[in-house]
Amino acid sequence: MAFKAEYIWIDGTEPTPKLRSKTKVLADGADLPIWGFDGSSTNQAEGHSSDCVLKPVFSCPDPIRGGDNILVLCEVYNADGTAHSTNTRALLTPVDEKYAAQESWFGIEQEYTFFKDGRPYGFPVGGFPGPQGPYYCGIGADEVVGRDIVEKHLDACIEAGLKISGINAEVMPGQWEFQIGPGGPLEASDHMWMARYLLYRIAEDFGVSATLDAKPAKGDWNGAGAHTNFSTRAMRESYDAIITACESLGAEGKVEEHIAGYGFGIEQRLTGLHETAPYNVYSYGVSNRGASVRIPWQVELDKKGYIEDRRPNANVDPYVVTRLITNTCCEALEK
Ligand code: ADP
Ligand code: MN
Ligand code: MN
Repeated sequence: MAFKAEYIWIDGTEPTPKLRSKTKVLADGADLPIWGFDGSSTNQAEGHSSDCVLKPVFSCPDPIRGGDNILVLCEVYNADGTAHSTNTRALLTPVDEKYAAQESWFGIEQEYTFFKDGRPYGFPVGGFPGPQGPYYCGIGADEVVGRDIVEKHLDACIEAGLKISGINAEVMPGQWEFQIGPGGPLEASDHMWMARYLLYRIAEDFGVSATLDAKPAKGDWNGAGAHTNFSTRAMRESYDAIITACESLGAEGKVEEHIAGYGFGIEQRLTGLHETAPYNVYSYGVSNRGASVRIPWQVELDKKGYIEDRRPNANVDPYVVTRLITNTCCEALEK
């Protein structure tokens, strides 16, 4: 018998990369081979030498096809064996290894917005729903749309063995969130990309698209973020380490470096309104949802735990945000 392996990779779409996938049929018991694709069709190569290489790096059961079928997340390499310029995972691997002794954990809150017929799912034709207020964690057909998709996605993530830790309806109608974590930098990021794949794929069956656009509706509507929760073993044991991490993220040059890697269009989302801090001003505080970085109240009470970087956009690349935070905080904590 044979099984199906869905090879999944991150493309070169500007300004925000997208997922692509194709199916390989393999004989039972076969190893996962290296594969290739036409990079000229994914903005990853010129037409005259367009072969790109897919290298499997993480696989899990395929909850959509079921049976022995699997999902295979891949890194993209050039034909000469060097990492492709779009391969941000290759940049994270050495950082993950360098600071492995500090045992970094990430929990990423992925907000996203469903679209149908060219408008946010649940928005009336040519108009707007009632103002924000009742939708966040809402219950009932007058408050939320898309729960059937969301529940299917949650079950699929669990069945695939992904570290999904929860879901909730968000502030704008048609907007939802799932959380991945806690897990190591590579682990949480791989699981996030797989969970995104499952979201798009399952919504597809409902004729709905899911977008990570950071500002899906203009005007007085919340944007979509990817709050990134972070701790090291030291932070899980002491408040001094919590403060060191918070301070390190505000150090000279770090604010700009992080913002540049936190997703396209971040200036439009981090305006200082809608529970955000302005993108160019760094701050941290206990329970402060208007700060760049929040120390949860429980963490201040326990004098240990984790911090929440509230700045990353929904469209952030988890390989980039986890690399930046691990580098900045672990370097400071090592001293
Ligand atoms: P919020 O209160 O901001 O809505 P959520 O409950 O949505 O937070 O998400 C919190 C995330 O933090 C979860 O993904 C969870 O797995 C993660 N998390 C919990 N403890 C830690 C920790 N010690 N280090 C890193 N992440 C953590
Ligand atoms: Mn949340
Ligand atoms: Mn949050």
